[in-house]
Amino acid sequence: MDCIIEAGIIFCGMNKNGTPSIRHDAAMRIQNGKIAHIGAVEAVVSGNAHLPRHGGPDFVAMPGLVNGHHHFGLTPLMMGVPFAPLELWLPQFRRMRSIGTRLDTLYSAIEMLESGTTTVHHIASGLMGKPDDWAVATDGVLQAYQDIGMRAGYSFMIRDRNILTYDDDAEVLKNLPVDLAARVSAGLAAAHVPTRDYMAFFRETRGRWVEKAGDRLRFNLAPANLHWCSDESLQLIFQTARDNGAQVHMHLLETQRQAAFAHNRYGHSAVEHLAAIECLGPELTLGHGNWMSRSDLDRVAECGCTICHNASSGLRLGSGIAPVNEMRRRAIPVALGIDQSNLADDRDMLLEMKLAWALHRETGMWNDRPDARGCCRWQRNTAPRLQASKSCAAAWIPVLLLTSCFSTESRWSGPLSTGGCLSAKRFSTAATELQSTRCSLVAR
Ligand SMILES: [Zn+2]
Repeated sequence: MDCIIEAGIIFCGMNKNGTPSIRHDAAMRIQNGKIAHIGAVEAVVSGNAHLPRHGGPDFVAMPGLVNGHHHFGLTPLMMGVPFAPLELWLPQFRRMRSIGTRLDTLYSAIEMLESGTTTVHHIASGLMGKPDDWAVATDGVLQAYQDIGMRAGYSFMIRDRNILTYDDDAEVLKNLPVDLAARVSAGLAAAHVPTRDYMAFFRETRGRWVEKAGDRLRFNLAPANLHWCSDESLQLIFQTARDNGAQVHMHLLETQRQAAFAHNRYGHSAVEHLAAIECLGPELTLGHGNWMSRSDLDRVAECGCTICHNASSGLRLGSGIAPVNEMRRRAIPVALGIDQSNLADDRDMLLEMKLAWALHRETGMWNDRPDARGCCRWQRNTAPRLQASKSCAAAWIPVLLLTSCFSTESRWSGPLSTGGCLSAKRFSTAATELQSTRCSLVAR
């Protein structure tokens, strides 16, 4: 789509010395999906007055933001699940209704686009039913992102043990009344899927979608968490990722109970265990990391992992606050994710950035604390993992906002998607689709 975007402020990126590169009262011309020219409004418009124009002097234009950790459209709270510590909260998901993955995805995609998020890592909470059902659910998510024009990384959570608690399921079942144990056991058996079947689905679906979606979609793998995955399962997942050039995103050390599990089961920390089974490498992003010790962080830094900080989630579920300043001191790349919902249940990434900035100010007078530029860099840390190739690392979708906001390190050069706010037609089509189904949702 060829057009001209005009803005009072255009964030072009960050200079090498860390200062933002900003142009005032400028415009950019988009040609064949790429930024062809950024300059003074008159210079950009000259000879191109026939092109449609967006924005104006009251707008800020910036590269799109990235949500590095996302699960749901309608949040659990919206679906009637009250907040509780993670281990008491997750079992209540079994009572949640489903509206189908397409509508669910469109709902949060609209919210993300509204606050400037144009790229997301979507981690499906689990694949239910038979492989044909998995394909339908996955296609619903991916087609929704395609239709609305967002870039997406996609993965689905994989578990092969400890579904009921942190202990072996067989041990838990032994302590249940016989009739209840029989009922629960049947459900567990029906839901059990060998990891190799998930890997086959990953390869098949990736093959189907990569050509169709091009550099807007990347397939990743998501072992759910250490206590949910056997060593054999983790090693197969990481081997598959390495064979296919995929990234791995894994929840780890979200709660204190998860930290205790690793020590009780393995005699050392969760991070040490991943290192021992050769599942700690630069392809890995760890979600949360709230309970990492200093030596864990040293190991994570050594291995080149990224950590995705989900600040709202840690606060709302009482899981903890990630030691982000300790991560920064070790130069661990920190990304930002909204997880199941942010503080306001509205997927506002700018608000999440402000929260993360404030949460790690600490109380000293002279301590090294994150500033706005640091929060912008956190945004940037996720992007390469969500794009199809390194050559697309600078391929940000521009968004226009009527509010002051942050930039990223990425400069606006190279291929540019025509999605984001530029796809106003797609956006309104998706909104209409949701609106038209509202009555039937209420009826259900
Ligand atoms: Zn999560």
